[in-house]
Amino acid sequence: MDLSLSIENAKGVGPKTAEVLGKAGIKTLRDLFYTLPRAYENYQAPTKIRDIKPGKVVIKGKISDINTRYTRRRNFTVTEAVVSDNTDSVRVVWFNQPYRAKQFIEGKEYYFSGEFNLSHGRYQLSSPSATLATEVDQDETFRPIYVAHHNIKSLNFKRIISNLRPEFATIPDLLPTENAPAFVKTHARAEALFNVHFPTDQTNVDDGRRYLAYEELFELILAANLNRNENQKLKSIPLPFSAAKTKAFVENLPFKLTNAQRRATWEILQDLEKPTPMNRLLQGDVGSGKTVVAAIAAAQAAQNGHQTALLAPTAILATQHAEKLQSLLSPFGISVALLTGATKNKPELKKHILNGDVDLVVGTHAIITDDTEFKSLALCIIDEQHRFGVNQRQKLVLKSPKGAAPHLLSMTATPIPRSLQLTIFGDLDVSILNELPKGRQPIETQIISEVNLTLDLYPIISATYHQKHQVYWICKAIDDNPSTETASVKKQTLKLKQIFSDAKIEFLHGRMKPAEKDEVMSRFAAGEIDVLVSTTVVEVGVDVPNASIIVIQDAEQYGLAQLHQLRGRVGRGPIKSYCYLLSDNENGPSRRLKELEKSNDGFYLAEIDLKLRGPGEIYGQLQHGALDLRIASLTDTYLIALAQKQAKSFARSISQNPEIMLKYPELASGIQKYQQLTTLN
Ligand code: ADP
Ligand code: MG
Repeated sequence: MDLSLSIENAKGVGPKTAEVLGKAGIKTLRDLFYTLPRAYENYQAPTKIRDIKPGKVVIKGKISDINTRYTRRRNFTVTEAVVSDNTDSVRVVWFNQPYRAKQFIEGKEYYFSGEFNLSHGRYQLSSPSATLATEVDQDETFRPIYVAHHNIKSLNFKRIISNLRPEFATIPDLLPTENAPAFVKTHARAEALFNVHFPTDQTNVDDGRRYLAYEELFELILAANLNRNENQKLKSIPLPFSAAKTKAFVENLPFKLTNAQRRATWEILQDLEKPTPMNRLLQGDVGSGKTVVAAIAAAQAAQNGHQTALLAPTAILATQHAEKLQSLLSPFGISVALLTGATKNKPELKKHILNGDVDLVVGTHAIITDDTEFKSLALCIIDEQHRFGVNQRQKLVLKSPKGAAPHLLSMTATPIPRSLQLTIFGDLDVSILNELPKGRQPIETQIISEVNLTLDLYPIISATYHQKHQVYWICKAIDDNPSTETASVKKQTLKLKQIFSDAKIEFLHGRMKPAEKDEVMSRFAAGEIDVLVSTTVVEVGVDVPNASIIVIQDAEQYGLAQLHQLRGRVGRGPIKSYCYLLSDNENGPSRRLKELEKSNDGFYLAEIDLKLRGPGEIYGQLQHGALDLRIASLTDTYLIALAQKQAKSFARSISQNPEIMLKYPELASGIQKYQQLTTLN
């Protein structure tokens, strides 16, 4: 059977139904088969009414005393009845379902499935589904429930699937069986899909879902492996390494590189020598010193007569990077230029970029979106890569000389949990900075309730700026919004000015003009501002080592990764630093805040974040929705390991003999969307 046929080929699906389902993304027979039940109702062992407990229940009994009343004041109907079995009876209630009054035949048994809960001081079964017992008993006692699509209710959808029942056996296989786990065998796919749509019990469902989860992970991991192979076929400009020049550079740094920085640098410099493009991710916790590693890579490109582009997510960060890189690189005759939306005299600068006078261009999206042309772009460095979408990366790649893809170095301070690294990021090489520069003291984090600010926090802040150290004060909002109680930058600035009348306090937010932002930021960096009240525009990368306190107001409103990033604005020098999380959660501080209080380890926090929020949330921006795994969980490390093993060996077979893929048309179509995630060309 050809799964790519339109759903109109299924019995019972006419043009109208096809249109409704099409809007929900169900267009082909494949989509239809893969629209799995959202839940199952288990009629096998209904609960005795005597044993009922609050929560979801299924009972089987006869109904009596049905009565419906209409409440004019609230404009709805309430239908009440009593259901009894041979142990006890229970009250059932339906809201706004007046047809219930006429639905039942007295004396007949029905299954009722719903929520047993306390309402207005009485326990009741609320708005249960009801099915004639004789129907269920002949038909199936374990039944799937589907998501409703407008007028296509679960039952209608179930009918469409049931009509296809004879076709399930003809669903073609997808996975290769070589090197596969035991449950991947011939006809396993058809069987798995059948099992989840027509199960006889929970074991059926579990087996079916395991196969389908494996299939999904295999596609994802295979796509990453194939991309890696494809990338290795691309040509790039080799940038040979000069031991003497690199040594001179490293010896002239104002500090000694950490061992982790040395290792990462070495891995990168070796990649750059190759005629195939580097595709490497540099993961380093906040403050681990990624910028200098990037500088050494850019130097290697410049020494070979080629250019580098460094992309940062905000203008503030780009500006700061440009300044720092200039001071590191200009002693070696390497020229650095800043290109952001606010850059004056752009045409002039672009001329210099095109004729090769500029070795390193640091900037924001402006580099991508503008008509900037390079003389010879050999290396792209992307800071905080999770903020860039795949499309943007591709645009940057297009700016290289014809026939050569640039080497790509992505840097991120949001560590990627290992399970994700093995799957979506499987085609990236990874370098890790798991060591902070010497002399750093761990940041101390404390959750403070707003009522204790005067006593617990204000004296500390005052002492801090009197010692000439600086403070960040982070607010969620810019202006006051009467509909939220979130503190705003502007109001908080006024308030703090009253409390600390001898301090220099200023604010910063994303709606200020770029020039104004730069001005405030550079005065803060120069130590001319004691307390900077800001939104999260300072979140990424900003480096002011003299700041030793960060206060995060309304901390409950941020995600774990973001809080960790914000906290990383302090503790960037030898001064002991503190992070204060303000929380007035009614039920005490959240798990997120408590984890932050306990740990400074970004890798640990990333694992926790993955567990608490799931991968879609964390990597949403990067994936543009492409990573919506339907069945598999990225925390299922066992299945991931199995899929990885098979995908690796299969990718190897393909690279030896690409024709193999022709035998797996289903697989070929399945991996397409994943391949777009990480491709370089
Ligand atoms: P991040 O990894 O967060 O981007 P940065 O590159 O901004 O970190 O570095 C943080 C700070 O540490 C900067 O002030 C930088 O100059 C300093 N730094 C980097 N490497 C070292 C080192 N090996 N020894 C001492 N300080 C360092
Ligand atoms: Mg950085």
